[in-house]
Amino acid sequence: MTDFYSSCSQCPRNCHVNRNEKSGFCGEKKEVRAAVACLHFGEEPLITVFGGSGTIFFTGCTLRCSFCQNYQISQDGMGRAVSKEEFVKICLDLQNKGAENINLVTGSHVIPLIAEYLKAAREAGVTIPYCWNSSAYETVESLELLKGLVTVWLPDLKTLNSEVSKKLFGAEDYPEVAAKAIKWMIENNPLEIKTVNGIEKSRASSDAGCSSDGGAENSTKEKMMSGVIVRHLFLPGRFEDTAETLAWLKENADGKAVISLMSQYTPVPFKEDEDRLAKRREALSVIENRLVTDEEDADLRDLIDAYDFDYLFYQDLCADTEWLPDFTRPQPFSNALATVLWHW
Ligand code: SF4
Repeated sequence: MTDFYSSCSQCPRNCHVNRNEKSGFCGEKKEVRAAVACLHFGEEPLITVFGGSGTIFFTGCTLRCSFCQNYQISQDGMGRAVSKEEFVKICLDLQNKGAENINLVTGSHVIPLIAEYLKAAREAGVTIPYCWNSSAYETVESLELLKGLVTVWLPDLKTLNSEVSKKLFGAEDYPEVAAKAIKWMIENNPLEIKTVNGIEKSRASSDAGCSSDGGAENSTKEKMMSGVIVRHLFLPGRFEDTAETLAWLKENADGKAVISLMSQYTPVPFKEDEDRLAKRREALSVIENRLVTDEEDADLRDLIDAYDFDYLFYQDLCADTEWLPDFTRPQPFSNALATVLWHW
């Protein structure tokens, strides 16, 4: 089998380190490590559907955004190694608990091993779709390894402004790399959305509540079986960048993929030493590090009205910081947002 690790070039960072011995920019050696697996109810409705998305959060990241809400696992190494056998068991558990899909979050640095794990899970009886949930800072050569396995893709298109990407992610080439990866995903995964029947259980809408059982009723919903949902997070104070990104999406993705515009940007209370905090503050200086305002929200709504996308989600404005995850807790999210099945 190909040795992907002895001089790693799995992602555009091209560190060329020997990951059998040490980690590269992504912070990870050769193992697949993960922090949490849960039924997640906070994804787009096409993904969450009735049973929730069977979400697995991997440790490490090729992009390491300076504002990352998951920094404890993406940058601080929280999590533990997961063998192929344990991964298969986690997927089967998620499926048995009603997960609509297996949602693989930020695994771009371990694609060859994840591809092996996904094949093993199929052979063991996992039949629900696989979703690839990533920053899109990925090479097409790596993504090819997931062909025939992953059918649903949830890439971010964070910015097309290379000065911003250099500052926030240390990746001046992010715009061209992500645009190429997303075009590949769209070309290889035509939209297939089907209507499914199920039982809608009401879930508590606040942290104070329990997870479900407020009532249940039969209904129908749409579920994505194949295709791409391109996510774009509006960065406070960078309206022109979002306008540029939406223009690109109109030209390259409209009608062929679903667009998801997010307004949940939330400053994270990073717990780290002063040196790292100072570096973050410097990186974050290109955005206004605050919640999105009502005025910005109104402007974004006008913008998406003007573009008139075929299929678009737009998030309700986020009013507080309570939803931020804390991966040191066995339940990193609110009970309304997720049911945890496995924790590192
Ligand atoms: S996967 Fe990690 S080690 Fe490999 S090139 Fe990317 S950042 Fe570097």
